[in-house]
Amino acid sequence: MAKNSDTSRKILELLRECRLVEPERFSRAPLPYPREFDDLIDQFVLAVKLAFAGKVQEARHRMNFIDHVSMVKWYDEIAQHVGDVRYELISNAQPYRKRGQSDKKRDMGDARVRRLAERDGHRCGYCGIRAVEPAVLKKVQSVLGRDVFPSKTGRKGSSNLDYHGIWLVMAITLDHIKPFAIDADDSDANLVTCCWGCNFGKYDYTLKELDLARPVQSRGVFDGWHGLRDSTMKLSR
Ligand SMILES: [Zn+2]
Repeated sequence: MAKNSDTSRKILELLRECRLVEPERFSRAPLPYPREFDDLIDQFVLAVKLAFAGKVQEARHRMNFIDHVSMVKWYDEIAQHVGDVRYELISNAQPYRKRGQSDKKRDMGDARVRRLAERDGHRCGYCGIRAVEPAVLKKVQSVLGRDVFPSKTGRKGSSNLDYHGIWLVMAITLDHIKPFAIDADDSDANLVTCCWGCNFGKYDYTLKELDLARPVQSRGVFDGWHGLRDSTMKLSR
């Protein structure tokens, strides 16, 4: 839910601009990520490759040059609040408060995330950003060090701001294409690999309510991207 009217106004401007300039991207993601993130992701991928080739100090040094604060701000201030604003723009109606929650179980375990991420080519089904399983990010963190690649601590008061920006834009979740709150369909067919921005941005809305195309499932390996699975297989020191 949008935090305040300044945030909502800013999101509305971004949505209108995107709809005008990049209609194809606009139809695919609640709010497409800034293109410069691809360069930052390239830098991160390189750091991971170095770290897992045993050059940990060089990798840690490179981590300092990634402008990850721009990613943190984008996720925390913009992406996760997009749903309501987009719904108002598209449907010209007041946003939902919240759909009812279902007690039915959903399986979001590591094994299922891995299986569906492989099916979907380790990319967000909406915005297409390169994505990584949380279990793989944890492995990367254990090699790079929590100081240069932090995540939420689990302590009280811990928030998005405790994460490295890469974590916020690349970590994989599973999105229920038809919202779980509507009919609790937890089948593979209703699930798609998704970045946090698109997942929380889409919120409890249907594709139709946000005027979104159906997300891409079963993408397979694309551009040689394997969600860092290949570069983190073994550590040679
Ligand atoms: Zn996405």
